[in-house]
Amino acid sequence: MFRIAALTLTLSFTLLHTATCHAANPMPPATDGDKERIRAIVKEVLREYAAVMSNKQAGGTEAKDMLGNLVQDNATFMRTHRASHFKPFMDGQHPRATVVTCADSRVHTHALDTTPDGDLFMIRNIGNQLATAEGSVEYGVHHLHTPLLLFMGHSACGAIKAAAGDYAAESPAIRRELDTIQIPKGEPGLSSIRLNVNNQVRDAMAKFESEVMTGRLTVVGAIYDFRNDMRQGQGRLNIINVNGETDPAAIARLELMQDLEKPAPKGKAKAAPAAHH
Ligand SMILES: [Zn+2]
Repeated sequence: MFRIAALTLTLSFTLLHTATCHAANPMPPATDGDKERIRAIVKEVLREYAAVMSNKQAGGTEAKDMLGNLVQDNATFMRTHRASHFKPFMDGQHPRATVVTCADSRVHTHALDTTPDGDLFMIRNIGNQLATAEGSVEYGVHHLHTPLLLFMGHSACGAIKAAAGDYAAESPAIRRELDTIQIPKGEPGLSSIRLNVNNQVRDAMAKFESEVMTGRLTVVGAIYDFRNDMRQGQGRLNIINVNGETDPAAIARLELMQDLEKPAPKGKAKAAPAAHH
């Protein structure tokens, strides 16, 4: 509280000083520098106020409960993960997939990778889009050279629902991220979720044409279906697009798709290859 009082005093003094200058001098008193300084002081006062308020309210808030959960789970994680767990990726990452998925809280990596650490270069945004995360996707493909770029949509996607409706009342920032979802109005369901994933694969293939054409990159579109809307099993990652191929029979015939559900004989091939630098 002392700091707030001090800051308020500083602010009052500054304002008073400005007003005094004004009275004595007909020239406009507040230069841009003055205004900037006042703004900074006001901001600082408000920030102090917010910190004090949150401290007072912290007793039984949901935020405190949640933060407690995170800290406790992290403590468990640290207890159960020794140095050997971190060793393979401590000095660098060599992920095998760049994954663009929705920010939706119901979608997480444990549905598709039991050991995602160092393995998945994750990019998340509303609607699992390339357009709103282009630099991040480029980083995964061009700098980390992941052989797989996966766009993962999901059932009951709120971003798709929003984009299919009237979102004019949303903030500019949200509107901007919905504008790039190209689906028909009035179709918020599975067909649009599918179309959006296919659009992402199309755009990524255009962007990374040379990588795809030379076989260095495979672009895959999938839908994580936690509601079993596609009737393929609850929680299944349904692969619906491989390098632009969307016909299920043709996808099933691809060499890439053969024996995928059999356990890999040599296990995961991601143990710190010495060749990487
Ligand atoms: Zn979503």
